Amino acid sequence: MKRLAPFALLAAALLTTTAVASPDVVASIKPVHSLVAAVMAGVGEPALIVKGSASPHTYALKPSDAGALEAADIVFWTGHGMELFLGDALETLATGATVVELADTPGITLLPVREGGAFEAHAHESEDHDHEDHDHDHADHDHDHADHDHAHDHDHDAHGEGDMHFWLDPENAKLMVTRIATTLAEADPGNASAYQSNAEAELVRLDELEAELAATLGPVAGKPFIVFHDAYQYFEARFGLTLAGSVTVTPDVMPGAARIDALKAKVAELGATCVFAEPNFEPTIIAAITEGSAAKSGVLDPEGGALEAGADLYPNLLRGLATSLVDCLQ
Ligand SMILES: [Zn+2]
Repeated sequence: MKRLAPFALLAAALLTTTAVASPDVVASIKPVHSLVAAVMAGVGEPALIVKGSASPHTYALKPSDAGALEAADIVFWTGHGMELFLGDALETLATGATVVELADTPGITLLPVREGGAFEAHAHESEDHDHEDHDHDHADHDHDHADHDHAHDHDHDAHGEGDMHFWLDPENAKLMVTRIATTLAEADPGNASAYQSNAEAELVRLDELEAELAATLGPVAGKPFIVFHDAYQYFEARFGLTLAGSVTVTPDVMPGAARIDALKAKVAELGATCVFAEPNFEPTIIAAITEGSAAKSGVLDPEGGALEAGADLYPNLLRGLATSLVDCLQ
């Protein structure tokens, strides 16, 4: 019995080492989760907060999410301005975690929010917009919370008014992949070489994807279209696309009658354009806008609500956007 003891101790030590080998990693939304999953391939799987068809813009944290955040070693999110459900929770729940705000990634392109939803800002539009803003502020006040206001002020200082859909530029995704790999390697040096080689493979895959999409989208560059929410400017800028307008700037603020009328006028002016809905947002509004016009309609899924989570979601998401645009506009 005594002679077995050292082996038992060694076995216990090995088991312990195995059990702590891969850190508990949480990703906020599907596009971020996809890039983290690619870097962690063969080592572990990140948890995802906004699952299924839920929208990052309207999500409310669940008790199971709170548990995942409390247990997390590392949390990856885009940052204040997108996952509004997460700002306070990270401070109160993810107290033991390294929190990585990907909007802060060095070199990343952050574009300002387009307040008018890509319309030229003339007097009538900005009037309309002020009205929407007022409604939004009012809703915030109903929610009260001095803390919330404070968090808001803080992130304005940190980032200004950035459009947080920055993953839709594959060049930004490449910078995110590198930062994710560096963060994981620091937290988990035993698997650093795996993270590094996964990241290198993902960077090659993203370069190939970008070249493929540039070829796919070339024929529709410059053809105007209208989208449900103003999520696409990184994709437009990268691939030379031309947005004519959006139904709403953000899905938590629904359009007023004046904006719907302006969109109908825009559609009439453009003729055979495309108006794109999203998987879970207001197809009835899209129908109202295209009614009686030559415009066609399609669906774009900028946050991957209709896609299966995992390492392949990111390329599938970008390919899906390109296919929908070409199918409708060409
Ligand atoms: Zn969005």
